[in-house]
Amino acid sequence: MTDFIGKLRGIVGERGLITEEDAKHPYLTDWRDNYLGTALAVVRPGTTEEVAAVVGLCIDDKVAVVPQGGNTGMMGGGTPHRDGREIVLSLNRMNRVIEVDAIGYTMTVEAGVILKTIQDRAAEHDRLFPLSLAAEGSCTIGGNLSTNAGGVQVLQYGNARQLVLGLEVVTPQGEIWNGLRALKKDNTGYDLRDLYLGAEGTLGIITKAVLKLWPKPKDVATAWTAVRDPQAAVTLLSGAHAASEDNVTSCELMARQGIDFVLKHNPGATDPLTERHDWYVLLEWSSTRSRRAGDNATGLAEKMEAYLGEAMESGLVVDAAIAQNEAQARAFWALRENHTESQKREGPSIKHDISVSVSKIPAFMTEGLQAMKRVLPECRPVPFGHVGDGNIHFNCMAPAGWDRARFAPHIEPISAAVYDLVVAHGGSISAEHGIGQLKVDELAHYRSRVELDTMRAIKRALDPQNLMNPGKIVRI
Ligand SMILES: Cc1cc2nc3c(=O)[nH]c(=O)nc-3n(C[C@H](O)[C@H](O)[C@H](O)COP(=O)(O)OP(=O)(O)OC[C@H]3O[C@@H](n4cnc5c(N)ncnc54)[C@H](O)[C@@H]3O)c2cc1C
Repeated sequence: MTDFIGKLRGIVGERGLITEEDAKHPYLTDWRDNYLGTALAVVRPGTTEEVAAVVGLCIDDKVAVVPQGGNTGMMGGGTPHRDGREIVLSLNRMNRVIEVDAIGYTMTVEAGVILKTIQDRAAEHDRLFPLSLAAEGSCTIGGNLSTNAGGVQVLQYGNARQLVLGLEVVTPQGEIWNGLRALKKDNTGYDLRDLYLGAEGTLGIITKAVLKLWPKPKDVATAWTAVRDPQAAVTLLSGAHAASEDNVTSCELMARQGIDFVLKHNPGATDPLTERHDWYVLLEWSSTRSRRAGDNATGLAEKMEAYLGEAMESGLVVDAAIAQNEAQARAFWALRENHTESQKREGPSIKHDISVSVSKIPAFMTEGLQAMKRVLPECRPVPFGHVGDGNIHFNCMAPAGWDRARFAPHIEPISAAVYDLVVAHGGSISAEHGIGQLKVDELAHYRSRVELDTMRAIKRALDPQNLMNPGKIVRI
């Protein structure tokens, strides 16, 4: 093993190698503290060639490779196993923005660039990179593409898969596939790019990407609304498409329980509305059309105000506040984006990242809340998320004061009740977080034999030695 570590050092140098137990620790566990693995070393290559050489060495020594970006994933996909013969390959030193092509609306980046850096670099060129999620200050584009991340603007721009034109990938054979093409059209056989997107590092390591950019919106309107119930949220969104002239960018649903946790664990946070309500929707419209001076009719805020006024008259919306400036809009967004962290501070929880078609959300919510309570009446459901995409984080907090050990026996029955219902509604048991190691058994249970056989056939064909993030997504 000394020899293997020595050869790794020869490839990535002292700077790119971590072998001390304490220094390795942050890479061996996930941020939710669900998993703690072991690794022969944490390797941090600085170039694609180094990544390829490391993979080549791992093939020779039959050591598996666990790619890792910002380590913000929810599914333990970037965490090594406890008993494996594995290295963690972190892309965090490959963090260069290679080129911004403002004319062609593209940006070429290395896989370890932090998502927020990409957004900021696009903005400097009056462009938008629309992928946006609460972990954007820590997650990397390589991780985003490998999980096919969603976030809060999928409604308008699509998920990560729709935001990328080309990839560079190191294959499980240690070869470099240069697919860094900035082409909008390219029908030349099987789409390898689409295969690697969302593969969670099981088919290869993404080392670079060509991303699509959009014009930066010039007019943005953000509202914090209390709605009657989830059915009202869906109806409000449906009407908003036309009322905004197809400019709905985000539509996020939250239950009061989630807001209470955010207010409790974030001392600076305040409730924008005076009364307590059961359900809230954060609605954002944006347009690249600038407001003309003195021409209020073209402003999205005015259109939104008129629309919400009608919605209040019809009883869909109970109360609402429209952000008067950017700081207020950011405060509304903080209430939504602090949901995940606040739940972590509150105690143990189960996360169900589910999707059903948008019109089925109300029925699913009613039945799902009943199903959770049937299994554990004292549990505290915290449903929230991207209602505009039919994607709800249908989370379930342990009863107040319970620790993980006490909650553990209830996790499987609660999840089974939720997932059975999701499938009965024709939905997905993982809308945007992927499968990782957490949902391998669920995927095997809920997907058809044909789908699973095809996935395993792809994995075996591309990675016959099963060295690329083994045991994640599917076992072979
Ligand atoms: C507060 C919070 C909010 C979040 N909100 C959202 C949300 O709204 N929408 C959403 O989709 N997700 C969300 N997430 C989950 C997470 O941020 C995303 O899954 C993100 O895309 C992971 O990126 P990462 O760089 O941290 O990847 P990691 O966690 O490091 O890795 C994730 C997976 O990708 C693989 N991987 C990483 N880099 C590469 C690479 N270069 N090549 C091949 N494989 C690779 C890993 O092996 C692993 O399987 C949230 C997380 C947090 C903590």
